[in-house]
Amino acid sequence: MSWLAGDDLDDEFDDYDESSIRARPNPKANRPRTKRRPAHDDARIGRVLGVDRGRYSVLIDEDAPEERTITATRARELRRTPIVTGDRARIVGDTTGDEGTLGRIVGILERTSLLRRSADDTDQVERVIVANADQMLVVVAAADPEPRERLVDRYLVAALDAGIRPLLVVTKTDLADPADFLTHFDGLDDLRIFTSGREGMPVDEIGAALVGHSTVFVGHSGVGKSTLVNALVPSAGRATGHVNQVTGRGRHTSSSTVSLRYRTHDGSGWVIDTPGVRSFGLGHVDPANILAAFTELAAIAEHCPRGCTHLADAPDCALIEAAADGELGETGRARLDSLQRLLQTFADKAEQAPGR
Ligand code: ZN
Repeated sequence: MSWLAGDDLDDEFDDYDESSIRARPNPKANRPRTKRRPAHDDARIGRVLGVDRGRYSVLIDEDAPEERTITATRARELRRTPIVTGDRARIVGDTTGDEGTLGRIVGILERTSLLRRSADDTDQVERVIVANADQMLVVVAAADPEPRERLVDRYLVAALDAGIRPLLVVTKTDLADPADFLTHFDGLDDLRIFTSGREGMPVDEIGAALVGHSTVFVGHSGVGKSTLVNALVPSAGRATGHVNQVTGRGRHTSSSTVSLRYRTHDGSGWVIDTPGVRSFGLGHVDPANILAAFTELAAIAEHCPRGCTHLADAPDCALIEAAADGELGETGRARLDSLQRLLQTFADKAEQAPGR
């Protein structure tokens, strides 16, 4: 809030993509030079829709008649701050959205959730993917490719670790009956499951679950996620092309994570497509959060000894005893198996990284 921050505006504009920025007049020329004014008190709040090589596509005046998408850079002081799709950003500079104009992100509002991943389970480097999502829609195919329970478990863990409610869509159910696969998730509280054949996706039913929410879509290639996104948001191509128009630069890669608006007569919601995110390394996740993702097992594990690993060799583990006594049933045992495999991942990681 010091006047020094405001005095630094000229320098900040040299951040990123200088070639296009220098062609424009100094934005400060139109600005009253009252140094003692608090910095950025004229900031607008916008929703970050996507990022393309240092340029942010930001929605301003959301849901108002003057709603518009602008392009923005970020202030130098935010250079080390990840700014991602879904962030609520404070914007100064030119927020008209006119062609060739640039706003500048000077701050990020506190996030309600943050979906992160590491490159693999032993990688401590976090990559922030999506901010402020409250739902994760996991897309898997009943066949071609075969659904993998473990992969879905990992998605669920990533979601629940971030405080995001998971939804599951099983596609291609005309190729295979997903019933056996779905028994794996019987015990998961509140997991909404949709099924769809290759023809006639239940767009209205899935869409109804999106209204009023920010939903991040995840899934491997070939499961029909893109088909679903396009069915829900027919204008997706145009929306993601916006950054290109403004910057006049190359591609808006298919690996970019973008926010797309789903609209229906009942309201709207946000579809956050993550084409480049095929898996979640869980190196940043607290193993305790993994257990929490298996709600019904977590309740049983309250009877475990303090510090119990719940792994196959854990002494007096209440989960293992419940499985041995037949209390878990077939589904519960399958889920315990999945839980243990995920926990084992962390045990292996600890062995590989002595001295940490
Ligand atoms: Zn245990």
